[in-house]
Amino acid sequence: MKLLIIGCGGVAQVAIKKCCMADDVFTEIMIASRTESKCVKVKEEMSGKTRAKIYTATVNADSVEELMALIGYFKPAAVLNVALPYQDLSIMEACLKTGAHYIDTANYECANTDDPVWRAAYEKRVKEKGFTAYFDYSYQWAYHEKFKAAGLCALLGTGFDPGVTQVFSAYAQKHYFDEIETIDILDCNGGDHGYAFATNFNPEINLREVSANGSYWENGRWIETKPLEIKREYDFEGVGKKDMYLLHHEEIESLAKNIKGVKRIRFFMTFGQSYITHMNCLKDVGMLSTVPVKYEGRDIVPIQFLKALLPDPATLGARTKGKTNIGCIFTGKKNGVKKSVYIYNVCDHEECYREVGSQAISYTTGVPAMIGAMLVVKGIWNRAGVYNCEEFDPDPYMEALAKYGLPWKAVEDPVPVD
Ligand code: NDP
Repeated sequence: MKLLIIGCGGVAQVAIKKCCMADDVFTEIMIASRTESKCVKVKEEMSGKTRAKIYTATVNADSVEELMALIGYFKPAAVLNVALPYQDLSIMEACLKTGAHYIDTANYECANTDDPVWRAAYEKRVKEKGFTAYFDYSYQWAYHEKFKAAGLCALLGTGFDPGVTQVFSAYAQKHYFDEIETIDILDCNGGDHGYAFATNFNPEINLREVSANGSYWENGRWIETKPLEIKREYDFEGVGKKDMYLLHHEEIESLAKNIKGVKRIRFFMTFGQSYITHMNCLKDVGMLSTVPVKYEGRDIVPIQFLKALLPDPATLGARTKGKTNIGCIFTGKKNGVKKSVYIYNVCDHEECYREVGSQAISYTTGVPAMIGAMLVVKGIWNRAGVYNCEEFDPDPYMEALAKYGLPWKAVEDPVPVD
């Protein structure tokens, strides 16, 4: 199978290396990104370690024409988008026009939130949906009929969260519950990279997400909170006690649609006080803005400039110690009896580095990206249309998680989050 991978950052580098390890499935891999030298470096690292043939290319993934030319030339079975959410729609469009399946790890966001066309659609969507996050699934779900008519599959959000958390939800629904009542998604990073401030994945996307209003789904509607307004403490296996904060997160939207009867879905992520203090300070001085400002005669986007100053997440692996623990606590009923189950993965930053030269956040995203691509190209998870991860049979994905480096546990009666 031929796979085109777009992007060559922290997450992509793990996905590429994992695809190279699964060379019985991926026989030819094209790595294409804005900066081709990064693709060449990864290709050289994999030399002699895989039977897959690797090619590299430069592509501006904002350009549908450039993407179509590349897909038309390479003719991949599927395109794995591990660039940025800004490129989701152009890559989907190019896949549709050239006949390739599409896979990504994050839902669409507009790079410039001051764009008047985008802003008008956004204001309308805020009124309809009731949350103010800059990202949501409406843009990509709108492609469902087109992908269906073309006989192509688009698999959205196959990272860890979104991604594995939805597979855990489908697995809980299939094997543990007749009816799921609540889902609490807990994302804990107990890793320490030693920097005063750095983000574990793309700083723009990370800081936009964390500094935004939080929200959760309850009894059929969204309840919005101020940024980081709701805080809880939880004792995570492999990490210990951590403060965690309620965030708006994209999989809440698709789980609310696809897990029938669910009454409440919340998402919590852990942060240390130093991260929050730095982020608030940067926000207060305007450094998180996505709106261009004039500086010495040229336009500069503050958050993009900040990204240039911060450590590249792809370089954090060598210095990060500790573990991540990401999973979901479900409550509900089976045969009329109330029960609760916690399904989670614990991942060690240093072990990830030893295996693929990366920290665990890139690893826990890159491995599911490879698994999603593998299930699509093998036809195991492949229906014409646009789908989220909870809409397919979770069992083959859960087996693949254990096989490819993300073993999981399911325990009954966990400590609840209040
Ligand atoms: P990075 O910033 O490290 O990498 C992004 C890559 O995309 C870079 O190689 C960059 O090129 C390339 N790129 C950016 N713009 C373009 C463009 N216009 N054309 C071609 N290539 C482009 O990001 P991460 O690896 O940290 O994150 C990748 C994705 O993974 C993001 O969408 C992020 O939201 C998602 N993610 C998902 C998670 C999940 O659990 N579902 C968790 C963490 C991340 P260049 O090197 O030239 O800048």
